[in-house]
Amino acid sequence: MEQPDLAAQWTRIRARLQGEVGEVIYRTWLRQMTLSGMDGDEVTVTLPTRFIRDWVSSRYGDRISALWQNENPAVRRVDIRVESGNASSVGLTESLALPAVEPRRTATHLAPSAPNPRPGDRGSQVPASYAEIAEERADPRPDLAAALDPRFSFEGFVVGKPNEFAYACARRVAAQPSSPGFNPLFLYGGVGLGKTHLMHAVAWELTDRTDRRYSVAYMSAEKFMYRFIAAIRSQSTMEFKEHLRSVDVLMIDDLQFLIGKDNTQEEFFHTFNYLVEAGKQIVVSADKSPSDLSGLEHRLRTRLGCGMVADLHTTTYELRISILEAKAARAGISIPVKVMEFLAHKITSNVRELEGALNRLIAHANLFGRSVTLETAHEVLHDILKAHDRRVTIEEIQKKVAEHYSIRLTDMSSARRARAVARPRQVAMFLAKQLTSRSLPEIGRKFGNRDHTTVMHAVSRVSELMQRDGNFAEDVELLRRLLES
Ligand code: ADP
Ligand code: MG
Repeated sequence: MEQPDLAAQWTRIRARLQGEVGEVIYRTWLRQMTLSGMDGDEVTVTLPTRFIRDWVSSRYGDRISALWQNENPAVRRVDIRVESGNASSVGLTESLALPAVEPRRTATHLAPSAPNPRPGDRGSQVPASYAEIAEERADPRPDLAAALDPRFSFEGFVVGKPNEFAYACARRVAAQPSSPGFNPLFLYGGVGLGKTHLMHAVAWELTDRTDRRYSVAYMSAEKFMYRFIAAIRSQSTMEFKEHLRSVDVLMIDDLQFLIGKDNTQEEFFHTFNYLVEAGKQIVVSADKSPSDLSGLEHRLRTRLGCGMVADLHTTTYELRISILEAKAARAGISIPVKVMEFLAHKITSNVRELEGALNRLIAHANLFGRSVTLETAHEVLHDILKAHDRRVTIEEIQKKVAEHYSIRLTDMSSARRARAVARPRQVAMFLAKQLTSRSLPEIGRKFGNRDHTTVMHAVSRVSELMQRDGNFAEDVELLRRLLES
């Protein structure tokens, strides 16, 4: 009976807040608040993620309480929490107390006498941070085929100076897994330089081409983590472990995402050792070399560096031209040399962007039945080129980001570590890396003389969060567009 009243009060409170904080902050942060109810003298308001909850409650918690008390004197306390049902809401204990999971989709594939998980095996050491992870109640047996991209073959990979070593190593492992000196194979390099492409190529080769069909498990580190958590939730960790340990080749892409996930790292470490000792091949990719992955456990880094470490360097002009030629030929479209040169000059960041630009040109040509010219390239790629031309400064980035999150500009270089300032600072570092050509140490210096590893960590943390949290990603994208325009 008091519900309609509460709802009306809540609407008024929201309107007040909106007026007070302004449109941008309201839209970005506060609009997502939901009133979940009142119990005794306590009102509960929920937000979709822990990050947003922390942000809102640290800045506006008091104000929201005051507004409630103003509206409804019976309200003594306001509890701002993460939506339940949303995996990011559940604390450790809650998550372990979740009701049993529905039967697995692939129950028929399971061994008839799959051992029951030991009672203590039920994620007894899950750290709280796991609770942040989106829920995925998946098959504990990694599904390989779904994950491989048919375009990512060795044939489709253009080899040049910057990637020839990594390519050769990948070829070698694909031809002869577990050769001494090549296990583990660790591929690293920046975004969009072909790590995933090479990993898939190895997996294709091993599952499709060789007489002996290897069983290969390929997954991103994130997937590994999700699956591990899902296995904990569905009490099938033993099965998950056994399945991983039964493969001939284990491939983990983007290992940097395990930074800070101690429990998953631990699991990976054990699986890793088990497989290597059993003579199985491991292939891992990451954005940095083993020794630079400072968030990973030392013993894991050491082991990762024990086999073959190969890096994919940033592309050269020649490689970019070769890639454009190969891709255009594949698409069966003729692109004038001038246009390729133009693209190879202008889009230097990574292969993914180069490919994106080329695909756009091709789509445009197909759509309008016109051939590609330098002029159409200018026209069609207008926005991409502009973004590459315009030089945003770190100061501009800091200013915009500070404004956006309503923190002080000085906090960009201050030593404060509260999340409400640390996160925006990380976003600014991430954007500085993306939008300027400054080096990591240079960026670090502009943020209160921080170390380049701090910047590196910020970059991977932000990309990780962006993958996980749509709202956050949208926010960062919005900032990027603002800065680029
Ligand atoms: P990473 O995993 O290193 O971020 P990807 O492997 O996803 O990068 O590569 C990004 C895109 O660029 C993919 O579409 C991939 O096919 C393409 N690519 C990267 N390097 C090459 C190459 N040497 N030859 C052909 N395509 C490439
Ligand atoms: Mg990749």
